[in-house]
Amino acid sequence: MTVGVLAIQGAYHKHQQVLTKLGVDTLLIKHPEQLKSVDALIIPGGESTTMTKVLQSEKWSDTIEMYAREHPVFGTCAGAILLSNKVDSAKVHPWNIIDMTVSRNAFGRQIESFLADVDWNGFGEGGKIPAVFIRAPRITDVGDQVEILGRYDGEPVLVRQGNALAATFHPELTDEIAVHRYFIDEICRKAQAA
Ligand code: GLN
Repeated sequence: MTVGVLAIQGAYHKHQQVLTKLGVDTLLIKHPEQLKSVDALIIPGGESTTMTKVLQSEKWSDTIEMYAREHPVFGTCAGAILLSNKVDSAKVHPWNIIDMTVSRNAFGRQIESFLADVDWNGFGEGGKIPAVFIRAPRITDVGDQVEILGRYDGEPVLVRQGNALAATFHPELTDEIAVHRYFIDEICRKAQAA
């Protein structure tokens, strides 16, 4: 199995390092044709407006959205915004993969970035995981098909719909690799076995 990491913007090397720790082969995706070579894709954080601009260029056309509809995908922060179906900004074009509404930069200017414990119930187990939030979006609404795997202060911050996973925080920036492990074991490997 090879997992692609979209390498347009953001901490894509960090995602790659976590995947390597998990023993997974990776490929940095800089061109749409490379999507053919990967079984799943991580969409890192960055600026969802900039990412929208780049991905709406002729080069990418709608290849990546089609890919996301048919393969396991994991979006973090700006990547999570792109996977949503509604965003409070006309400058962002969401891909409509996860039935959720998001509000950009919604944790307020004073606390643009913070470290917090997230209540986690991935793998059917409860616990806390440390999470870094950087100008994070808020998930303000989720549809019935959406499973909430992580909450901060009672609000959803890690959600799954089918083979798509979205975190409003940055799991690649701490030593806790549970969220990536969940993506690989529970989503990617199961999709491959199906
Ligand atoms: N605020 C960014 C956006 O709206 C997301 C920040 C991030 O990815 N760390 O796209």
